[in-house]
Amino acid sequence: LLLVTPFAFLNEADGAAKLISFVDIQDVKETVVNDRQALRYMAHDLRNPLTTMLALIEQQDGQGESGGGEAFLDDLRRLTNYSLRVAQDFMQLSRAEHLDPASFLPLTLNELASEALDQIGGAADQKQIALLAPDDDGGNLWVSGNYDMLLRATVNLLDNAVKYSPPGSAIVLRMERAQQYVCLSVQDQGIGIPEQALPQLFDPFFQVDKRCQSARNGVGLGLPFVRTVMERHGGLVEVASEVGRGSCFRLVLPAYAMGEEEHA
Ligand code: ADP
Repeated sequence: LLLVTPFAFLNEADGAAKLISFVDIQDVKETVVNDRQALRYMAHDLRNPLTTMLALIEQQDGQGESGGGEAFLDDLRRLTNYSLRVAQDFMQLSRAEHLDPASFLPLTLNELASEALDQIGGAADQKQIALLAPDDDGGNLWVSGNYDMLLRATVNLLDNAVKYSPPGSAIVLRMERAQQYVCLSVQDQGIGIPEQALPQLFDPFFQVDKRCQSARNGVGLGLPFVRTVMERHGGLVEVASEVGRGSCFRLVLPAYAMGEEEHA
């Protein structure tokens, strides 16, 4: 198994490299955008017209021949949905970057895990993937954080595990204490990640294999979001993976000591 601490590959603490990836996907190869505020507005501005476009397409869809053809509509819908996801995911990433630790509240890993498992249950059922959370101690593992963001990060990992795993496999969610940290890991029996892809895995818009159907449905902003949420919480995300055998993503967060004393 390969163990990677993504932080080790990040020498651009201000995220400039991430933003270059963003403009690449727009085919504006020479443009260097390093104003996060501007990008936030861009993502925001993108969202409303795209939502309107989608509504128009749905309207046309009901009008038969005059609607411009099924294939055209399908393509347009797919592209529009994709653009909308880019804007939404980018805004999420931007929100994560602006998380204020002063607003953090104590919570348990158990709360996160059970809500995340609920949210992903439907998708797992569709692929007959078993979601397992064996004998853990998550109720006693406290962190101080933003519940919504930590939940989204956990759901992102579970969502990927489902997307990149074969039907009938299992996903195991574990929670544990490791010295002054608490850890939540998501282990799958999926396609795995090649060693050479690991250094870029947490870069915006990076996808191991864009030809694979699961990747086409994604945007490539999920793992950058997870990494940013962890950074803002003083934690990190690690991955261990082996092609053909599966991956294990682990969220590591500082334990909330006061919470443990109060709630033990
Ligand atoms: P996406 O929207 O494409 O899933 P992510 O940022 O969440 O974007 O993930 C980036 C890429 O990392 C994915 O396209 C996929 O190639 C790879 N990946 C993420 N999670 C897993 C996993 N559990 N198993 C295999 N590959 C994964």
